Amino acid sequence: MHLLEIGAIRNKPAAGLYLALTRRCPLSCAHCSTDSSSTSEQHPETPFRRLVESFDHETRPDLLLMSGGEALLRAALVADLARTARSVGSRSYVLSGMWFARESRRLPAPVSAAIREVDHFAASLDEFHEREVGRADVFRAMHRIRELVPQVSFQLTGRGDDDPYLQGLVDDVRREFDDQVPILVGTLSPIGRGRQLGGLTPTPSSGVPVAPVDPCDRITWPLVTYDGTVYACCNQDLVERRMPEHLILGHASHQSWPELREKFLRRELYRALRVLGPSFVAARFSDGPCDKGMCGNCLTLSGDAEAERKVTEYLRSDSGRQVEAAARRMVEQVDGTAFSDRRSGRYGGLVSLGWEEADREQPSYTS
Ligand code: SF4
Repeated sequence: MHLLEIGAIRNKPAAGLYLALTRRCPLSCAHCSTDSSSTSEQHPETPFRRLVESFDHETRPDLLLMSGGEALLRAALVADLARTARSVGSRSYVLSGMWFARESRRLPAPVSAAIREVDHFAASLDEFHEREVGRADVFRAMHRIRELVPQVSFQLTGRGDDDPYLQGLVDDVRREFDDQVPILVGTLSPIGRGRQLGGLTPTPSSGVPVAPVDPCDRITWPLVTYDGTVYACCNQDLVERRMPEHLILGHASHQSWPELREKFLRRELYRALRVLGPSFVAARFSDGPCDKGMCGNCLTLSGDAEAERKVTEYLRSDSGRQVEAAARRMVEQVDGTAFSDRRSGRYGGLVSLGWEEADREQPSYTS
């Protein structure tokens, strides 16, 4: 599954599911967004296994995305989840910080076995990662990984469009892989350990910028956090720190994917945040403040039962249904580069590298 195909379904609600398999990571990157270390928390595997085993052909997500911490510390779990997901038609993706590539080491056998099972492997690289795992080592390992998995990509992060380090890294990846490996570029943010680093500015959390609505594209694919709590929002740093009650979808230890998906797609508050956006919802349906930015406005809705009652009533009305349908068409009918165009600025087109029409897989998403 090419990065462009992932981008094309990014705005389809419940077409993807994120699993944060462990907070643990052997690297000590200074900017780590999940504040991970080799001794970080790691919960039992059972909720993740149970949830993926509950996928069925009809309602399964198109894509299962596994990350951490370092997901490949649980290589056997990654392999099993990818296999189980594939048995009902879901594809899988794993993101790694490439700790295993240090000092020109060979790929450990369990890591190779896990990578062989997934449909897409993504490697993270930025100035802080490079102090832990050298660029040449990452490139060497990535050449080997390309022989094991159908699609790979890089997630490169820098300080902004005009960051010379980022430009140099992008140029190196393009040259090394002959423009055949797609790249998703992001911006370093002051989250996790990054809060202690000076000079990082928050990434704007905006969706499709159409006034007066401000759709949030992070409430399109749910997130299962380390302990099995399932959030409707995949903004991992925020939900872990604040645990907003209104965004808790359920728990993987006792709810199935079809149950969670049904609630995710049906609950009017989530639909409104997804296509109308939190600022619109807060301004129109809540008595609380609505000048705190996208996520700030969303957090003011936590525990506001009256606002949720009004949202529900509105989306069940004729005019609400029409507005939602029009906004949903606008949000969902985007091509595969729209997601990266919003986040990656002038590097947005790099998600298309290596794309050939022949790579296209049959669309399998059904709403
Ligand atoms: S606006 Fe709400 S749903 Fe969207 S990222 Fe922020 S907290 Fe999550």
